[in-house]
Amino acid sequence: MVKRRVPVPLVDPFARRVKDLRISITDRCNFRCSYCMPEEGMQWLARSDLLSYEELARVARVCVEEYGFDAIRLTGGEPLVRAHVVRLVELLAPLGVDVAMTTNGVKLPEVAHDLARAGLTRVNISLDSLRRETFFALTRRDELDRVLAGIDAALDAGLVPVKINAVVMRGINDDEVVDLAAFGRDRGVGMRFIEFMPLDADDAWSHDKVVPAREILDRIHAVFPLREAPVAGSGHTQPAERFEYADGRGDVGVIASVTEPFCGNCDRVRITAEGKFRTCLFAIDEFDLRAVLRAGAGLEADDLDERLAAEIARAVGTKWAGHRIGQADFVRPDRSMSQIGG
Ligand code: SAM
Ligand code: SF4
Repeated sequence: MVKRRVPVPLVDPFARRVKDLRISITDRCNFRCSYCMPEEGMQWLARSDLLSYEELARVARVCVEEYGFDAIRLTGGEPLVRAHVVRLVELLAPLGVDVAMTTNGVKLPEVAHDLARAGLTRVNISLDSLRRETFFALTRRDELDRVLAGIDAALDAGLVPVKINAVVMRGINDDEVVDLAAFGRDRGVGMRFIEFMPLDADDAWSHDKVVPAREILDRIHAVFPLREAPVAGSGHTQPAERFEYADGRGDVGVIASVTEPFCGNCDRVRITAEGKFRTCLFAIDEFDLRAVLRAGAGLEADDLDERLAAEIARAVGTKWAGHRIGQADFVRPDRSMSQIGG
């Protein structure tokens, strides 16, 4: 196939340019966060169902070269439980775009430096509580200390800016919002508070468990005054609405997916660990890129890039205006967050 010299922007039916690819590399995880996975009984994908690193890298290359995607994020499940993940970063780094990762951080003390050397640019680390009991209640694992060590390892490895994701749940950790903000200020990491979304495997989500982003900001502002941050210069739509501390000690963001959805500016698409292409976290329709990748001569097929590009464009042509959480016609996807890739 003759390569296009200049990527053609991929635009969805609502005139949004799509340029951010989230890649789930595994459905497995070493945590069992209550807002994501069931305590037990999860059915795992077979090894042969997962896209290989070469297959994932091929999809990423088509997105970058054909459509000018400029950001890739590795996620899961827990991306660091898949073997040899450094190798995947090595395959993606030559694409020359931002390659980031979202992780629970437990394995970062072992691999942060190798990931940085391989070309990972930065990480988001999940940390919902600084209290051991609450951390355990949320993640069902007693690993707070290792996650804190993982944050230090990421900073030490230069995977910056390190951002910390905290899902806030009413009655569980909402009383820790200010403590987490103080932690972010002290450690020089940007806290990102996320509203609880209806993607938990236990199907226990309800509106009254969501702590609205405004309330989170008000609580922080009362202790550490905030001002609106200038728009970040990456050209990327940030789901997090960002604020700076008035005293100059860093920033904080809120991801108000439920109470103030940012769908109007969404530039993301996702691929699940088994190669299903999704145009929204809440999408019902999926497009089977694994079937495209494995048809005929597989990765050796001459027309593979063309076929992948066409299927991705077809999928993006179905991207909807936005999710319908809270609306009468909202339909929950039959996958949970760890099966989609957050
Ligand atoms: N295992 C990694 C981690 O936890 O960071 C990456 C995958 S996880 C699915 C990605 C992000 O989704 C995490 O920050 C997690 O807290 C968030 N998340 C999971 N379930 C969620 C839910 N129901 N609502 C909001 N955020 C959720
Ligand atoms: Fe695992 Fe991340 Fe889901 Fe927690 S949120 S269970 S760490 S995939």
